[in-house]
Amino acid sequence: MKLKNLVSILSLFALALVTFTACQSEQNDELLEEEGKVSPEILAKLEAAYFDTSRAFTTNFMGEEGVAVEDMFFTYAQIDELQPIDPLAKHYRTTNLVSGLPRVITISVDPALGTLGSNALDATITMYNNLGLRISFSRVAFGQRGRNKANIEVTEFYELESGGFITLGRAAGFPTRKGDPAKGFGINSRWFELSIAPNVNELAGTMAHEIGHCIGLRHTDYQTRQSCGQNVNEGSAGVGAIYIPGTPTGSDTNSIMQSCGPAITFNNNDRIALETLY
Ligand SMILES: [Zn+2]
Repeated sequence: MKLKNLVSILSLFALALVTFTACQSEQNDELLEEEGKVSPEILAKLEAAYFDTSRAFTTNFMGEEGVAVEDMFFTYAQIDELQPIDPLAKHYRTTNLVSGLPRVITISVDPALGTLGSNALDATITMYNNLGLRISFSRVAFGQRGRNKANIEVTEFYELESGGFITLGRAAGFPTRKGDPAKGFGINSRWFELSIAPNVNELAGTMAHEIGHCIGLRHTDYQTRQSCGQNVNEGSAGVGAIYIPGTPTGSDTNSIMQSCGPAITFNNNDRIALETLY
């Protein structure tokens, strides 16, 4: 849900638009290769952790320097923590989870995402809190500092589509070793300009997906990324890809944690996964 394959979902008219923008973004890609080029050493670490680095680039995200890969962002320190583990390890969670349960996680959204972003976050919070987990979410004001700063901040970024894909959201990693959720995620406001601009429920679904990463869920199709029209092994990152008992080991096309959607609500397996962890 973080990525959308534009070719598969756009009309012919829009396809022409994408072809045009793809040409445009080829130039951008060239620029990115110079300005945002990831060093071979870092690429090797990400690939050893079985991330798809085909569109990886260096960037500043939520105030920190690092690398965007798939719908994730990792600082260099986080990348150093990625260690290759058993690639055969089979609803998949990271090694670190949010601890200190029961726990209320505060969350805020950048006003730059407008009324749509605000309403979508409220809908996402309701989605999670209706599950009755030992973690729940409570909305607070955006832009607070210190102790009042939200545990998870929803920010805005703007990024053009590339190679027929648009990145809808980007999570700032997975839970920390201290047991805190990742500090937030971004929503690509470029999405709002396209013919596939989201309604409140679609945006809420993407937010729920990115929160899933922040609290330790990996993609349910991490082995193949087949929801993106790819067939690659995303593997089990050093952050872990630990099988969650009771969930399918194979394809689960209605899971909200597919790499490229289209689900916008939790399916039964998503609920089992979250109930098992939290
Ligand atoms: Zn994702």
